Amino acid sequence: MTSDVHSALYLSIPFCRTKCSFCNFASGVYSRDLFDRYVAHIEHDIDRAPALASEVGASFDPLLDSVYLGGGTPSVLAPGQLDRIFAAILRVFKLLPTTEFTVEVAPGTLSDDVLASLLRAGVSRVSLGAQSFVDRESHSVGRLHSRDITLRDVARLREAGINGISIDLIAGLPYQTAESWEYSLAEVIALAVPHVSVYMLEIDDESRLGRELIAGGTRYHAHHVPDDALTVALYERACERLNAAGIVQYEISNFAREGHQSRHNLRYWHRLPYYGFGVDAHSMLSAPTPSDPDRALRIAASDSLDAFLAGAPPEITIVSRQQAIEETYFLGLRLNRGVELLAIKERFGIDAVDDYREAIATLVADGLLAIEEGWLRLTPRGRLFSNEVFAAFLRA
Ligand code: SF4
Repeated sequence: MTSDVHSALYLSIPFCRTKCSFCNFASGVYSRDLFDRYVAHIEHDIDRAPALASEVGASFDPLLDSVYLGGGTPSVLAPGQLDRIFAAILRVFKLLPTTEFTVEVAPGTLSDDVLASLLRAGVSRVSLGAQSFVDRESHSVGRLHSRDITLRDVARLREAGINGISIDLIAGLPYQTAESWEYSLAEVIALAVPHVSVYMLEIDDESRLGRELIAGGTRYHAHHVPDDALTVALYERACERLNAAGIVQYEISNFAREGHQSRHNLRYWHRLPYYGFGVDAHSMLSAPTPSDPDRALRIAASDSLDAFLAGAPPEITIVSRQQAIEETYFLGLRLNRGVELLAIKERFGIDAVDDYREAIATLVADGLLAIEEGWLRLTPRGRLFSNEVFAAFLRA
């Protein structure tokens, strides 16, 4: 991990307008009073960022390469609450003209006042959780917006001068078919947005849809969830069509036109330092010591909203050398370009590659990894089984 690349800031806003049936993330529908208390905690954590850095032996660089408000659905906050968060960011950090500043928005929650707040703060990029352009599919998992609302929000963002638009799609929603997926892909391509994310539906066993899939039932449309083979085919088709349209895959779930990859997410995959505040968020800071110039720390906030609001202190752990090696592999392999084995050797020593030779050889023989000119990368098949591949790199 290098530290000469400025900072990044992630803020988790765990509030949603409705709870999606497949999701068991620490997010939910809460009262506006609670929003206020939460925002006060976020302001406090942002204000304390320089003190936090000094307490753990990290140097504080106020220049932000990227800011990302995710969740949850940050756009459900009131404009005044967003303004308070943005003011705290500007009190403590400095934005550069090139800073990538992203806010996740659920279509239909972008009121004129919220949009004005984003513009005042200098937001340059909005990630829109469309999920599908077929209303029956998005409604089936609890989303309230329609295709028309998504199209309207894209037009409003562009009119306001925010052209850095990313659209999320989910492959594997209830009622999805090969034909309906072609329609969603055609819509997203026709919108000519610079960035698209495509996720294969992951249904948490503890979510309402997950429980219905296990126990049976029809309320959450479990009986219309596509089987795994269709979901995989939809994902593969998305890769094919988006690549052909010049929206090129650069990570398992992410596609971008030239120069529009998410800088913020690239920092995670490259293991560059960042601050992360809010429920279930964590910071990764470089905190070198004379005996350990590569020392990195993970500082994790509670994943419980109650505990977070009660002021539970974050958990601080030192990232061991072995963990750093593993992260370098499984985060780097998420990217289509993969990881450079020589760079890993130079950074961590020869054993960081030699220890994995056997595992790598097996995964190459299984067609899940490929080595080309010293770069190790997932094959298209490997992207479908990425968790199995990453598990082979876990030793700690
Ligand atoms: S999937 Fe996203 S929008 Fe839906 S409930 Fe979970 S966090 Fe909220």
